[in-house]
Amino acid sequence: MKSYEEMTKEELLKEKEGLEAEYKKFQQRGLKLDMSRGKPSQEQLDLSMGMMDVLTSGVDLTCDDGTDCRNYGVLDGISEAKQLIGDMIECNPDNIIIYGNSSLNIMYDTISRSMTHGVMGNTPWCKLDKVKFLCPVPGYDRHFAITEYFGIEMINVPMLPTGPDMDMVEDLVSKDEAIKGIWCVPKYSNPQGITYSDETVRRFARLKPAAKDFRIYWDNAYCVHHLYDINQDHLIEILKECKRAGNPDMVYKFCSTSKITFPGSGVAAIATSANNLEDIKKQLKIQTIGHDKVNQLRHVRFFKDIHGITEHMRKHADSLRPKFEMILDTFERELKGLGAGSWYSPKGGYFITYETLDGCAKNVVAKAKKAGVVMTPAGAPFPYGKDPHDSVIRISPSYPSLEDLTTAIDIFVVCVKLASIEKLLGE
Ligand code: PMP
Repeated sequence: MKSYEEMTKEELLKEKEGLEAEYKKFQQRGLKLDMSRGKPSQEQLDLSMGMMDVLTSGVDLTCDDGTDCRNYGVLDGISEAKQLIGDMIECNPDNIIIYGNSSLNIMYDTISRSMTHGVMGNTPWCKLDKVKFLCPVPGYDRHFAITEYFGIEMINVPMLPTGPDMDMVEDLVSKDEAIKGIWCVPKYSNPQGITYSDETVRRFARLKPAAKDFRIYWDNAYCVHHLYDINQDHLIEILKECKRAGNPDMVYKFCSTSKITFPGSGVAAIATSANNLEDIKKQLKIQTIGHDKVNQLRHVRFFKDIHGITEHMRKHADSLRPKFEMILDTFERELKGLGAGSWYSPKGGYFITYETLDGCAKNVVAKAKKAGVVMTPAGAPFPYGKDPHDSVIRISPSYPSLEDLTTAIDIFVVCVKLASIEKLLGE
């Protein structure tokens, strides 16, 4: 097969004509398909319905330590939930605070507290002239929305197949005291599905930041979200690495069961050093008398232990895998060798990223929309919504049925081909 680059103008025009006819046919179908957000499908949500049965009216809601979950108390989470979450994120339960229903909420609170009250006795960020964050790109739009909301300047750091460009990270944090943090999704990253290499994690742990209150925001949202039983990515545990490297307080690790049980009704947590926990609890005890222990207990009784989570995630994988594989197979078949862009093949997580030729992403997303396929807006995975190359498109395979997704991807492929040809023809 010839790549588009190798084709003559006449060949490209002919190709374009055929694609336009295909595109029109899709348009005539009046489709309404949505690949915009990484929501679990109904089939996936049904997997957790058993959680509704474990706490019926006759059930005793007493925790292992005698706490009555129905009442006030226990600021940092019931011990059995700490054990379960600790096993899930490979941390000591003593290093964990269980929060409410959203890890994004914890991240927001963490930034907010640093702004108003500072980190472990350091100057509150609001009193500083400038506060900056490093943002590996492409990344998670809602992370960037938090730092933008607080007026924190965001600096793009390119993602490599091993994780963020660590040469750049090391250089920047060691020189600039205004850099107070970095957003990371270290496993099956949103949106590329990249897992940070061992070396990347070790380099993170050994950072020598100019700012004493620099923290790594380690959002382990996809820690157990494998697509395969054997062919899985492995991520080194960062808290232990930081401790070993003499930087025990440098990381906040976040997680939730949003994409394990019910998004919006899961359990979220932070894991960090004893010093950081003490700092956080000063705020937490003012903020709340305690989070939802009944929901924590419901999760524990449903899963029982980490093996319950592993089994459960196998069922999620059974639902997600065919969707991921269909997309990657379609890309291989339709786009490989065309010179119309590139993609990663993730082994877990929730997304596939397609990288178009420079300057084509917005065009592809607009074309898809006109044919009835809603995608995540181009630019969304970048701070301020600005993709410097206009080339990154996030695909969220989870929510639509396999049938709808197949149609949506067929349309997407036509749009990618058309946009690439238009670019090469200088249109
Ligand atoms: N972090 C990442 C990387 C995510 O992709 C998501 C959900 N899309 C979240 C956090 C949100 O998590 P939660 O529901 O716990 O707020």
